Amino acid sequence: MGFIESLFSGVRVFVSELVTVVAKAVRVVLEEIDHSSFGRAATQLVQGATRKYFSTAQDLVDEERELAEKFVRDGRRSETDAERLQEIAAERETLRKQIDAAKASNAAQEFRENQDQVVAVAPSDDEASASIGIIASKTCPECGETMRIRQGGFNDKTKRRNFYWQCTSAKFSCPTIKLDPMKERASVIRKQDPNLDLSTPDRRAIWERKDVLVETASRLRNALGDDDSEIVCPAHLLPMKLLPRSQADGRLLTTYEYVCLAVDSEGRACQHRIPLETFPQVSEALRRREGQGIINS
Ligand SMILES: [Zn+2]
Ligand SMILES: [Zn+2]
Repeated sequence: MGFIESLFSGVRVFVSELVTVVAKAVRVVLEEIDHSSFGRAATQLVQGATRKYFSTAQDLVDEERELAEKFVRDGRRSETDAERLQEIAAERETLRKQIDAAKASNAAQEFRENQDQVVAVAPSDDEASASIGIIASKTCPECGETMRIRQGGFNDKTKRRNFYWQCTSAKFSCPTIKLDPMKERASVIRKQDPNLDLSTPDRRAIWERKDVLVETASRLRNALGDDDSEIVCPAHLLPMKLLPRSQADGRLLTTYEYVCLAVDSEGRACQHRIPLETFPQVSEALRRREGQGIINS
């Protein structure tokens, strides 16, 4: 990939240059997609495949849970079970590649279908935040697995959050890559969205309006317990679920997180979680589920 920095589901591409003419940039993106492995896969096959992959992932999680229960009950692990756990890990590695490829193909197809409706905008913290946790086509320079954008805490000094790319490989040992949306000479190509296109003060004013907060919270509550198939646990390859945090205070941006309900081979709960901490994240979560973000277009 030269021009495409990363392709995301939901018709969103980060590109590595400043785009002035959208049509030309779209053409280059489509050319790169066509030359990539994921651009050539047949989409109908791919969509059915993703469901099948998630169901295989669930089977592996169920089996690992049984092995964990047995381990806790017996206080030891049989050789057969230990071998089976290794097989499960190997099966997951294959599955991970299949899911990543299917996701990238879907994203490519979505972009192709919506190529006439996209705009090019400058990267910003909100643009990065809107893509948190989504599997991207960006590959890790260390190991070649796919990466996703993560978000750090709010920095009181800079009044900003830190963003970084994190590798999704099973070992979680690859270094993260810092992402500073404000410093990159780059663009984001995506569909129009008032939640990102209105000026920052304008959209913040709407997001923070009391009636809007109440409605947004109620829409989010309707999504509780749902699988979000765009946010996948990197360890267990299951779609993560939106749930209230254990010590939630009820405020919109400190109460919800995506969690994985799988357990590891010793019965410990999966630690992967993606907190929902910004309005762009909430807006995207709602858009993925209902087709509209916080502010309706
Ligand atoms: Zn890696
Ligand atoms: Zn997990």
